[in-house]
Amino acid sequence: MKNNFKQYSKRFLFSLITVVITVILVSSHTFKSVQVSSDLDIQYIWDDIKTEKKDFIKWIDFNVCYDALDAAYRLDVNSYTTDLHYNWIEILALLACKYGNDFDKYSKKDLDSFASQIKNAGSVEAVAKNMKYYDYYYEAYSAILCEFLGVHEDGSYGMKVFLPIAKNYSFSHYKDFGASRSYGFSRTHLGNDLMGSIGTPIIAVETGTIFHLGWNQYGGWRIGIRSLDGKRYYYYAHMRKNHPYVQGLEEGMVVNAGDVIGYLGMTGYSIKENVNNINVPHLHFGMQIVFDESQMDSSKEIWIDVYNIVEFLKKNRSSVYMSDSETKDYSRVK
Ligand SMILES: [Zn+2]
Repeated sequence: MKNNFKQYSKRFLFSLITVVITVILVSSHTFKSVQVSSDLDIQYIWDDIKTEKKDFIKWIDFNVCYDALDAAYRLDVNSYTTDLHYNWIEILALLACKYGNDFDKYSKKDLDSFASQIKNAGSVEAVAKNMKYYDYYYEAYSAILCEFLGVHEDGSYGMKVFLPIAKNYSFSHYKDFGASRSYGFSRTHLGNDLMGSIGTPIIAVETGTIFHLGWNQYGGWRIGIRSLDGKRYYYYAHMRKNHPYVQGLEEGMVVNAGDVIGYLGMTGYSIKENVNNINVPHLHFGMQIVFDESQMDSSKEIWIDVYNIVEFLKKNRSSVYMSDSETKDYSRVK
C-alpha cells in the first residue's frame, strides 16, 4: 500500500513537472509572437475576429404581395414632395411584422393605419419599437428594394428599375418559384420563367456590373449582373442560340437599367455550348441577395421569389428599336 502510494506520488510529480514545463514553453512562445507583432498586425487580427463574429442575414422568404408593393410604392411616390415623405420599405417592414410574413393577410386598411401611426408618432421607430423583427425585415427589404425608387437624372422621383422584357413584347409567367427541376440533379427552381418569343430583347432591370457572361450547363447562354452596391445579383438565362447578347458586352462592364443586354431563347441543359435543350422558349429571371461574400457561389445563396417583383416591374418597361441592321442588335429608345 505504502509502495503504491509512493509510486503514485512519483508519477503525479512527474506529470506535474511535465505540465509546468509545457505551460512555460507555450506561454514563452505566445509571448514571443505577441512581442514581434506590430500594432498594425494586432489591428488586422482584431478586424478578422470582428468580421468572423459579424452576423448577417442568412435567408429571406420574400412574401410581399403585389397589392402591398403597389400601395406602398404609391404612398412613397405621392408623398415625395410633401412634408412627410413615407418610405415604402419601412411600410412593408411594418406590414411583415404585423402579418408574421404572411401577406395573404394583407389589407390596405393596415397600410393606411401604419401611415397615420407614423404621422402621429412622428417617426417609424416609435411605431416599430415593440416589433421584434422590424430591423430584420427592414434590412432584408432594403437589400432587395433600395434601388427600385429614386431620383432620375431630370430630377423627377419614381421607379428606376425596369421589367426584363422590352416594351411591346408579350410574355406570360406563373408562380413557379421552388418548383422541382430534374435536369442534372433534383433541385428546386430558384427564379421565375418568363415565356415569350425567341429574339425578344432582354432588358437590364437595374444598373450594375456584368459579373458572369457566357455558357453555363444549366442556364445556357446566361448573364449575371451585380448591382453597384453588391447586394443584388440578377441572373438572366437560356438566351438565344448563336446571338445571345448585344455586341460588345464583357465581364466587368457596367450596364444601365433599361439597356438591352440580349435576346430570349431556349439554350441550356447541356455541357456543350450553344445547344437548344429547353423545350419552351423563355427567360429564366433570378434575383440573389448577397449580405456577405461567403454567400456568393455557395450552398448559402439567397434566391428570392421574384414573381410579385416581375408583376411590379411591369410599371416600367424599356422601349427598344433595331439600332444596327448588320448585327441585328437592338438598343433602348432614349
Ligand atoms: Zn427557370
